[in-house]
Amino acid sequence: MAKSDLKNFTLPGLEAFLSGQGKERFRATQIFKWLYQKDARSFAEMTNLSKDLRVELEESACISNLEPTTVEIGKDGTRKYLFVLEDGAGVESVIIPDEGRNTLCISSQAGCAMGCEFCLTGSYNLTRNLTTAEIVNQLCAIRREVEIRNIVFMGMGEPLHNLDNVIRALQIMLDGNGLQFSNRRVTVSTCGLVPEMARLGREVIVNLAISLNATTDELRDRIMPVNRRYPIGALLQACREFPLPSRRKLTFEYVLLGGLNDSPADAKRFLKLIHGIPSKVNLIPFNEHEGCDFIAPTREAIDAFHAYLLAHNVTVITRDSRGGDISAACGQLKGRVAAGEPVNVNQCS
Ligand code: SF4
Repeated sequence: MAKSDLKNFTLPGLEAFLSGQGKERFRATQIFKWLYQKDARSFAEMTNLSKDLRVELEESACISNLEPTTVEIGKDGTRKYLFVLEDGAGVESVIIPDEGRNTLCISSQAGCAMGCEFCLTGSYNLTRNLTTAEIVNQLCAIRREVEIRNIVFMGMGEPLHNLDNVIRALQIMLDGNGLQFSNRRVTVSTCGLVPEMARLGREVIVNLAISLNATTDELRDRIMPVNRRYPIGALLQACREFPLPSRRKLTFEYVLLGGLNDSPADAKRFLKLIHGIPSKVNLIPFNEHEGCDFIAPTREAIDAFHAYLLAHNVTVITRDSRGGDISAACGQLKGRVAAGEPVNVNQCS
């Protein structure tokens, strides 16, 4: 019988697993702390469990782990990690340093099915969803090396397209007996899967970022196929209904594409669209990459767009492109695995 990977369980899930084996539920909390607070990678390390329990767990369960296959470090300190999963699929995670506070950009899928035109990950199609353990293990592996302050689900994949695993991974990250992140420091980004936004809001409290990128359905239909299913009006209605804790804001991400969505008229429409939604705006000047026809916006267009929103009391940040020299910038992750790269093999493989 296949062993159960304990890193696929939330704390209540682990309690149910153990009680199904006739064990005390409180053992789950002990094991959870070993996994996430002491980074135990074997049952032998769990010295407050009886020897008999450890032997029984060895037979029915396993603890997966990931080690990065490569780490690239950009000139600005951005670090890109490639993980080659046991089936050979590659996923990437990125650490973005900011005055000593590191943000981890995490992947939720190998590839992506959403097909946003400006995104390199999208051009690779979806290989598969990551398991809960594979999502959490990116974080576990990287925090052995650097301290992580914020987590953003903005790596490869559309997180809400793998919602069961993403919710479980979030619950592990936020659990006081688990990875102990404050929900203020965790952000999930979506291209706009409307029903899943509502479910996320019902099941877990985290920050939500919406990748908007166009101010008309005509353009958004063209550059983000998801818009044909959930047009801008439905998306913004879902934003208005998203249960935000008091004094929190949604984030709107807007990739500025030269000559396409960066005009003064776009800025004006954008302002009108987000009117009344507690929000902040991240402007992301497009990074040109091979095989993509879009162009970067001019400095003047970026500044004018930014200034217009600011003048209308919108909290706006223009995100300088980070990690561009190692293809770690927004929309540039591809998880390409070179021939012969070692895959992660562990006791759950
Ligand atoms: S922008 Fe996000 S949702 Fe769109 S294709 Fe890229 S990874 Fe997928």
